[in-house]
Amino acid sequence: MADVTLEGIYKIYPGDVTAVRDVNLHVNDKEFVVLVGPSGCGKSTTLRMIAGLEDISKGTLKIGEKVVNDVNPSNRDIAMVFQDYALYPHMSVYENMAFSLKLRKFAKTEIDKRVREAARMLELEEYLERKPKALSGGQRQRVAMGRAVVREPSVFLFDEPLSNLDAKMRVSMRAELADLHQRLQTTMIYVTHDQIEAMTLGDRIVVMKDGVIQQCDAPLDVYAFPENEFVARFIGTPPMNLFDGALAADNPLLFKGNTFEVTLPDSMKSALQAFAGKKVLFGIRPEDMKLEGQQDAGSEQSLSATLHMKETLGNELIAHLRNGDDQFLCRIDAHSRPSLDGELKIYPVLERAHIFDAESGKNITKSPS
Ligand code: ADP
Repeated sequence: MADVTLEGIYKIYPGDVTAVRDVNLHVNDKEFVVLVGPSGCGKSTTLRMIAGLEDISKGTLKIGEKVVNDVNPSNRDIAMVFQDYALYPHMSVYENMAFSLKLRKFAKTEIDKRVREAARMLELEEYLERKPKALSGGQRQRVAMGRAVVREPSVFLFDEPLSNLDAKMRVSMRAELADLHQRLQTTMIYVTHDQIEAMTLGDRIVVMKDGVIQQCDAPLDVYAFPENEFVARFIGTPPMNLFDGALAADNPLLFKGNTFEVTLPDSMKSALQAFAGKKVLFGIRPEDMKLEGQQDAGSEQSLSATLHMKETLGNELIAHLRNGDDQFLCRIDAHSRPSLDGELKIYPVLERAHIFDAESGKNITKSPS
C-alpha cells in the first residue's frame, strides 16, 4: 500500500522538448487516479517516469515516504500494464504470469498459489495452459493484468490498457478493472485519451494539455465545474456548447452574444464584476438547453433556433441547432417525442451556465472546489 507524490516534475527531452511541465500531484493510498488528455499531452511520459522507465528531468517523485527518482524500476514496488500487453508468445498463460516471480526467486509453492489466485480472480483458470495466440484480445488483456496482480505491488500503473479492444469488450473490461480495484484496494494510476474511460474509472481525474495539468478533481466536479475552456470542451459527450460574446460594460450579469442576450443569475455577480465589458464565452451543457414546454419552472429567458440535424440515440436525441452563425447542441429525452419543426425556443438552465474569460480561457464562474 502506498501513496504517490509528484512535486514539480518536468520531462525535457533532448532538443529542448518539454513533454511534462511542473506536474504536482498527490495520489492517495488506494486511490484510482486517471490521467487523461489528447494524444501528446504528456500522460504516458508522466506514467513512465513514475514507473522508472524514463528519467525525471526535474522535480521529486515519492512512493510512500521514499524519494525514488533514482531507484531502479524493479525496486519501486510497482507493476505496469501496457497497451500492447507485452506477453511472451512462447510461454503459456501460467508461465507468463509466473515469470516475474520466478525471476525474483519466489518459492514454487508461493508462485503457484499467487498465479492460481490471480487466475481465479480474473477468470483465467481454464486457460492457464494456453499460449497467448490462442486467446481473445480481452483474455490477453486479463493475462497482462494477472501478471501485474501476482506481484502484489503497492502501485499499479496502466498505460491505455483497453485501447486495443473492440468497443463492447472495452466496456466489460472497464467494469472488471473497477471491480479489481475494489477487491485489491491498491493505488492505481491509469492513462487514457478516452474521457469516458476516465470518467467511469477514476476516483479523481487529472486532465492534461501540453504537458501541464489543467484540472484534478472528482469526475463529476470536472464535468460540472470545468476549470477552463479546454476542460469544458474535452470532458463530456457531446461537448459543452460555447458561445462567443461579451459582458455588458454597465451590467456584468448581461451576456451579449452574436444572436441572443441573457441575464445571468445574481449569484454570479461578484465573480463577473471584474469582467464587465470584456469578451467572454458563455458555456452550457447540451442537457441544460431545454425545449419549450420542458423548461424549469420560472425559467423565462430563451433563445431561438432551428433544427439542422438530429442524432437519435434511442433514449435520447441530440438536436444540432442553428441560430445565425451560432451552432449548438441540445440533448433531449427521446421518449418525449418532441416536435422539432420550425422556429424553436430553447431555455438555458442559467444556474448551470459557465462564463469563460475569452483571453485566458479560465472559468470565471467556477465554484471553488
Ligand atoms: P501522450 O501519452 O499524452 O500521448 P506522451 O507522453 O507520449 O504523450 O508525449 C508527450 C510529448 O513528448 C509529445 O509531444 C511527444 O512527441 C514527446 N515525446 C515523447 N517521447 C519522446 C522522445 N523519446 N523524444 C522526444 N520527444 C518525445
